Amino acid sequence: MAAQTEESDTAREQTKAEQDVDQVRQRAARDQQRLDSGAVTNPKDLENLQSEIASLAKRQGDLEDIVLEVMERRESAAARAAELGERVEAVAAKVQDATGRRDAALGELDAEADSARKERETIAAAVPADLLKLYDKIREREGGVGAAKLFQRRCEGCRLELDITGLNELRAAPADEVVRCDNCRRILVRTPESGL
Ligand SMILES: [Zn+2]
Repeated sequence: MAAQTEESDTAREQTKAEQDVDQVRQRAARDQQRLDSGAVTNPKDLENLQSEIASLAKRQGDLEDIVLEVMERRESAAARAAELGERVEAVAAKVQDATGRRDAALGELDAEADSARKERETIAAAVPADLLKLYDKIREREGGVGAAKLFQRRCEGCRLELDITGLNELRAAPADEVVRCDNCRRILVRTPESGL
């Protein structure tokens, strides 16, 4: 924005400088016409007129130098504004691309969450009410994980290995009994890899 402002400021400055040149040029042209018309005959007046034409020519030259200087500044301001404009566009394109990818990822996550929720509902419907209640209670207390796999004598919930007493109790427990970790109290899920 600053670069664009500088560009339009220098454009205005250039217009003003060109108008100054025009004014001087017109006045010099009028003087020259008067001189050429032969209407001025008094030597003193003629001298004054010629002197004014000369000083107007000098003034016009100076003003034209100013126009050139302003034009140069305007060109570099325009180039800078164009370069920054391109960079803004490039960044905007990147933002748009990232937004698109984020939206797509969010869509996928939503779909994934939906299907996980449905899957959970199906499974939860098959779990006895009191067991589900216990599971939900532990889950709430233990940061979202209410049941853990027992893997090679280790509770995958708290990562602690069961001691020999605990292992013996588990070995003696019937397959359909709900067993829990002595340490974190999560429900332990026994599998062939439990190391029992
Ligand atoms: Zn545990």
